[in-house]
Amino acid sequence: MTVQRGRHFLQIPGPTNVPDRVLRAMDAPTIDHRGPEFATLTLSVLEGLKSIFQTAGDVVIFPSSGTGAWEASLVNSLSPGDKLLMFETGHFAMLWQRMAKNLGLDAEVVPGDWRHGVDPAQVESRLAADRKHEIKAVAVVHNETSTGVTSRIAAIRRAIDRAGHPALFMVDTISSLASIDYRHDEWGVDVTVGGSQKGLMLPPGIAFNAIGPKARAAAKSARFPKAYWNWEEIIAANKSGFFPYTPATNLLYGLREAIHMLLEEGLDNVFARHARLAEATRCAARGWGLEILCLEPEEYSNTLTALLMPEGYNADILRKVIMERFNMSLGTGLGKLQGRVFRIGHLGDFNELMLAGTLAGVEMGLSVAGIPHAKGGIQAAMSYLVDPRGKEKDVQVASFEQRANKTEIRS
Ligand code: PLP
Repeated sequence: MTVQRGRHFLQIPGPTNVPDRVLRAMDAPTIDHRGPEFATLTLSVLEGLKSIFQTAGDVVIFPSSGTGAWEASLVNSLSPGDKLLMFETGHFAMLWQRMAKNLGLDAEVVPGDWRHGVDPAQVESRLAADRKHEIKAVAVVHNETSTGVTSRIAAIRRAIDRAGHPALFMVDTISSLASIDYRHDEWGVDVTVGGSQKGLMLPPGIAFNAIGPKARAAAKSARFPKAYWNWEEIIAANKSGFFPYTPATNLLYGLREAIHMLLEEGLDNVFARHARLAEATRCAARGWGLEILCLEPEEYSNTLTALLMPEGYNADILRKVIMERFNMSLGTGLGKLQGRVFRIGHLGDFNELMLAGTLAGVEMGLSVAGIPHAKGGIQAAMSYLVDPRGKEKDVQVASFEQRANKTEIRS
């Protein structure tokens, strides 16, 4: 293997680049998790997480990956056999649905084309048809990491309300939290699922549930067996700053620093930075003449962009070339998108020059791999970053026929 110098560019859509400040915060002796210093740490991160989830309610932290927090959301608030409404927005939505089925839930899936988010009108009509209120929960992935499509959570909430349906509303924010605006309380979400390794700029290893009062009440009569994931035991121990088991102490040091960094920047500025870098990425894609997988501009993801390969070219070959030549990891196509798309992660501890490096790596990779594209993607991105209002106006995009946005994704 060739030794590569300089920083590796970790441009997958999570885990993301961990900032030095967070790395340094974690580089400290592990303390007694039953001592007073630890209690102060817990109480401060729990308070900070409320700002991140935009909730006044409870947030619990699990020493797990995001998948664990998915499971916790289901087993705490539902009972075996309960009906759950889910949406085929992409790979992660389908994994959550498979988990629900494996647990013994009756998960109904509204089919999708992996290029759109959840349609609020479909939510409304399906719930309105459920006169007996058999559906106990609606579960949506806010930002589908496999496709780069962001569903409109506030609009989905309004759809549930228009249908007058009492179902719980559960949202996966694993690749949107602390990067794309998300409001647990204002948008009437009952359970929010989050993870450490994306917008929160931490390594993988801890995950979250933000729990609204309706979900907490539902948990009292929910009949799934649960132990490790039991919200009530964690909330009870958290009151005095402790956990019912050994917590991930050093990740909590990192979390404290990450929350500090996010609040110091200001969440609105964090969201605006992600929006700016995402739009610049899309300018580059248009400049290259590559098709953005997401078909609805209102649903473009601000944390990642999935780009379709021209017919007959494999995205994983491009990714391999970029990795070997330029020391950068890009996201692979997941599920039925394998080989069809590559994903550029533009989230977390990320800025203009890191994006310019990332896009340069992609443009050079396209040339090295012999993939038909137009030059000028990076130029388009830079022009946008310099002057967002004059979007692309002075950019000469080489003659390359842009493909219509109509590729159908087949299994
Ligand atoms: N949900 C979404 C939207 C994700 O992007 C991921 C992982 O990338 C998961 C769930 C699963 O999380 P984890 O891999 O941490 O278990």
